[in-house]
Order: sequence, then structure tokens, then C-alpha cells
Amino acid sequence: MVHCTQVVKRFAGRGGQVAGLDDVSFEIARGEFVAIQGPSGSGKSTLLLTLGGMLRPTSGSVSILGQDLYALSGSARARFRAERLGFVFQLFHLVPYLDVRSNVLAGLPTIDAAARERVESLIHGLGLAPRARELPSTLSAGERQRVALARALAKQPPLILADEPTGNLDPENAALVFNRLAEYQRGGGTVLVVTHGSDAAPHANRVLRLAAGRVTDSAAASRSSIPLSADLPSTPLNRSS
Ligand code: ADP
Ligand code: MG
Repeated sequence: MVHCTQVVKRFAGRGGQVAGLDDVSFEIARGEFVAIQGPSGSGKSTLLLTLGGMLRPTSGSVSILGQDLYALSGSARARFRAERLGFVFQLFHLVPYLDVRSNVLAGLPTIDAAARERVESLIHGLGLAPRARELPSTLSAGERQRVALARALAKQPPLILADEPTGNLDPENAALVFNRLAEYQRGGGTVLVVTHGSDAAPHANRVLRLAAGRVTDSAAASRSSIPLSADLPSTPLNRSS
């Protein structure tokens, strides 16, 4: 699903180059929920932007679903991102002048009747129905992050990348976000979350650690097996509601 190979990202900084990522390699299999933990400044956002096709690495390669992202032209990469990847950001990044429903619809590359139905079901399922016509500025942080999550889920992407998605949430809303991502995984999705704390670890199959732009170690997480849908016959598959 994700092949990150010897990725180096250097930034121009005071007195020379600053290493954002320093030879990072790892793979994520389809159906995994991987958490990458690292302190502030360790390169988490740089890594996620690079994996998401928004930041070209200085060297190394990123391949997602068999596609070498940076071999694509800028517009082909934008299309790939729009169709195949879901993003959830710490600061939500909602469109301030669109209401909740329109913000969720904005996550879709194309809007048809089935997509509209999916959006309504997500809005209901995430408890946003009473706020569907409100602007983001009137919402709580927890509600804004649920809108951002609905926007990422709406296109049913094969991969969701989340950058500290619970960094600004109270424990209750943080649990809701992680539970919803775990549910998306049970429906066959793949999740990569980067966090500075350990709150994603209980939901992850695997935890990697990032320090000073390097993946330093990996440890088995509390959930030892990948719950591919085939292993869970009693769990209803429920991608979008
Ligand atoms: P994190 O998300 O883990 O807090 P970042 O990926 O934002 O860390 O940053 C990693 C390092 O790269 C930091 O030293 C940061 O200052 C540097 N960095 C990130 N983006 C840029 C940029 N656009 N220009 C220069 N330096 C950057
Ligand atoms: Mg960051």
C-alpha cells in the first residue's frame, strides 16, 4: 500500500540545510493501522506531506498503491491525491465560508447521487446533522474535527493520512475520532496517523517512532493482528455510516 524508500527531505535554513527527514524507509500493508510517534519538530508533518504527494523529497521515493508519486506530473499527482487519499489535519483546514455539508462534499472528486447519500450518512453517523448548515466558525473543535473526518471518509479512500488529528480535542472527541478511524480500517481501509503523544497507539497494529527525522525503532502495538475483514465474520462491514 505504502512504500517509503530512503526518503530524505532537506530544507534551506539559517546557516545551511536543515534535515526534515533523514533516510526514512518503511512499508505499510493494506489494512494496517499504523501510528508514528515523535516529538514536536521530529518531522511528522514533513513525512505526511511527503507521503501525501504535497512535498517532493530531496531524494528517495514514495510509492502508494503501486504508483511512484513523484514520477507523476503535478496535476496527475493532484488527481491521484484527490481520488485516492484522505487527509485529516490537526487544525482541521475546513473552508470557512462553506457550511458543514458543503465542506464534506468538498472532499469528493466527483459528486453523484451515491456520493451525496454517503455524505448524508456520514453527517448523521458523526452526530453533525443538527449542524449541517452551520459555518465552521460556529462549531466546537470536536465538531470541526468530525467534519474534517467526514470529508476524508466521504470518498472512501484506500488510505487515510492523519496529522495529529486529536491534538486539539478533549478525550471524548479524541476517542470518537480514533474509533471512527478504526471502524474505517475494519471496513478494509488503511490508516497512518502521526502524533506527538501515545494516544493513537491503542488503536494501531504497529507503532513506529520518529526522532530528528529518522525512524528509530518499531514495536508491536497492543493489537497484534491485522483485522482484515475476512477475519471478522461477525463484524458488520460498515464503511461510511
Ligand atoms: P513535526 O510535525 O514533527 O512537529 P515538522 O515536520 O513540522 O515536525 O518539522 C521537522 C523539521 O523540519 C523542523 O526542524 C522544522 O523546523 C523543519 N521544517 C519543516 N518545514 C519546513 C520548511 N518549510 N522550511 C524550513 N524548515 C522546515
Ligand atoms: Mg507537525
